[in-house]
Amino acid sequence: MNTFRGMSCVFSNRARMKLLAAAFTSCRCFHAEQVRLESSGLPIIHHSQYVCDLPDKHRFPMNKFPRVFHFLLKDQVITEKQVWYPEIASKDLLSCAHTEEYLDNFINGNVNEQEQRRTGFSWSEGLVRRCRYETGGTVLAAQVALQRGLACSTAGGTHHAFPSFGSGFCLLNDLAVTAKYLISSPKRKVLIVDLDVHQGDGTAFIFKEEPRVFTFSVHCGKNFPLRKQQSDLDISVEVGLEDKEYLSTVEAHLPWLLETFRPDLVLYDAGVDPHWEDELGKLRLTDRGERLNNKHLQIIFKLLLNDCEYLSGLFQRDLYVMKSVVSRGVPVAAVIGGGYSRDIDKLALRHSILHRAAAQVWRECGM
Ligand SMILES: [Zn+2]
Repeated sequence: MNTFRGMSCVFSNRARMKLLAAAFTSCRCFHAEQVRLESSGLPIIHHSQYVCDLPDKHRFPMNKFPRVFHFLLKDQVITEKQVWYPEIASKDLLSCAHTEEYLDNFINGNVNEQEQRRTGFSWSEGLVRRCRYETGGTVLAAQVALQRGLACSTAGGTHHAFPSFGSGFCLLNDLAVTAKYLISSPKRKVLIVDLDVHQGDGTAFIFKEEPRVFTFSVHCGKNFPLRKQQSDLDISVEVGLEDKEYLSTVEAHLPWLLETFRPDLVLYDAGVDPHWEDELGKLRLTDRGERLNNKHLQIIFKLLLNDCEYLSGLFQRDLYVMKSVVSRGVPVAAVIGGGYSRDIDKLALRHSILHRAAAQVWRECGM
């Protein structure tokens, strides 16, 4: 284990083998010409069925999904023409990451009290439908990204789901299903960049023996899950880490991972729960230039840049990740990941930073 200031870095032997193997096999699936000829704007994957009813005062902010989409349209980040609607994920597709028994029980409502407590949700048909559309959305984001270079869903990132059980608000592991789907094509390799504040334990477990999928997680060591799994590269950061140090942590690892593993697609989990105001996350990232103490400067930046989000840690993070990947000719499919606040509009705007940063990458990279 290497130790840096405020973080620990666990790099497994298994990871070394994956990188070594990658040095000898590499295949590119990014069709740059196609991107230029066909695209009119950043592809956004969305579905009205990403959401379902929950009891009043439930901790999970279910209504954020339609609100993210609402703000993207309202703020003219996207137009309706850019929206792709996923199909519901079939049981067949889901079975590439989940056991038959788990899927049968989950889909048919054969779920006991203890299992429901572990997921944080009471079972309902609506919940099953929502999770299946969300997973279909992440798969579609990857398919579109392979064609166009970049695509973002307005949901996804359910990384705590294991093959045979759900956990921590995650019932189906959309990232795992998508990566499994992608590697069904021979020689294709996938890098999962998981920057949600919680470790992607389900995803790490699912791909621990899979050389064509590399799992990279930057998370707060003191956040859920208590018992971590081993990703190919885990960066566990300390409570209270702020924008600058967090960004330099990501910058210290992503470039060499891309150069060494040489993925054919990056799945990016852009969870906003590292934000300082998040109800569950224990880090201190900003979303709208809050760290700028001088009110006058805030107003000037707001006028000049239309919004202070350009100064924020989350915006810089998302911009950096997507630019680093796309500029190497590797497509990115991004999902919104976790984010927890009772103020749904504030939270939805925070999640929309991902799409705003992606729209900037789309413009600047001439996609
Ligand atoms: Zn999270």
